[in-house]
Amino acid sequence: MLLRIRQGASEPAVSEVATRLRLAGLALHRTERDGQVRLAAVGDDSAVDWNEVKRWPAVEQVEPAPVPFELASRAFRPADTVFSVGRCAIGSEQLVLMAGPCSVEGEEQAFAIAAAVAGAGATVMRGGAYKPRTSPYSFQGLGEEGLRILRRAADAHGLAVVSEVMDPQQVEQVARYADIVQVGARNMQNLSLLREVARVQKPVLLKRGMAATIEEWLMSAEHVLSNGNGQVILCERGIRTFESYTRNTLDLNAIPVVKELSHLPVIVDPSHGTGKRDKVAPMARAAIAAGADGLLIEVHHDPDHALSDGPQSLAPEQFTELVRQIRAIAGVVGRTL
Ligand code: PEP
Ligand code: MN
Repeated sequence: MLLRIRQGASEPAVSEVATRLRLAGLALHRTERDGQVRLAAVGDDSAVDWNEVKRWPAVEQVEPAPVPFELASRAFRPADTVFSVGRCAIGSEQLVLMAGPCSVEGEEQAFAIAAAVAGAGATVMRGGAYKPRTSPYSFQGLGEEGLRILRRAADAHGLAVVSEVMDPQQVEQVARYADIVQVGARNMQNLSLLREVARVQKPVLLKRGMAATIEEWLMSAEHVLSNGNGQVILCERGIRTFESYTRNTLDLNAIPVVKELSHLPVIVDPSHGTGKRDKVAPMARAAIAAGADGLLIEVHHDPDHALSDGPQSLAPEQFTELVRQIRAIAGVVGRTL
């Protein structure tokens, strides 16, 4: 249930509303904008008489949330959520560019790619150390050694780090090295993983599951938010359809839809979304034109010899050219890089 508090209500009066609802077994979340306090009361409300709550003096309005993802909804938090990661304010007017290899393969590779993506204008370096590969015989990532390398390569170029975590038991380790922890498409509904990433209080990059509806994706974000971590970045990375020419079908509809429904930042991964190097730039340009808050792009200094996802990885000069184009589009849609 969403409660709007009367303008000018005293702090003790607001606290009393929250305390009484907590005593009835609900969890309370609060937002405030221009002096307007809103409370979301979530959980089993069978013991609460909402008609009576409506008559409490500090309460102006009580309304059921229009969507099941209450904390992720704009109804609860009308303004965009913005948070800082390194040099970037994610969700702000400034677009975030996250780029790097699919997998960290070694020192030389990571340092070469870090230099290239930083030089082109990225502020966050991506790189998987724990890789969810379709085949158990494919390269599975370098684990903690990969995270160590990624951190050093990123630090050498002033970049923040995003890296995937596959297992609740890895969360603490990945969070020690990364500024943003990535939950992959295959794990979007791994609820114990979502609980664990909420606990470490680092921003979470939540990829859309390959067969997830937008509502299911936002409900996964709700798991993180309701467990106390409000820093969620949604990432559209393509869904599975009957189309087989591209690896996935990049759902650009999701950008304006999510922007309307939710205050959370939304970025797009055109690398996994297309699976084809020459389709990455057009879809990246389209994503920014459609209102995405940033991009997650695979870049490799030697894509033909990448240990994973080479066919969809951009070479550094292709990434540099793409950033130049993105900068121009950003200007048109009122964003900066
Ligand atoms: C990745 O980012 O390398 C990855 C495995 O992505 P996804 O979870 O979207 O497949
Ligand atoms: Mn990949």
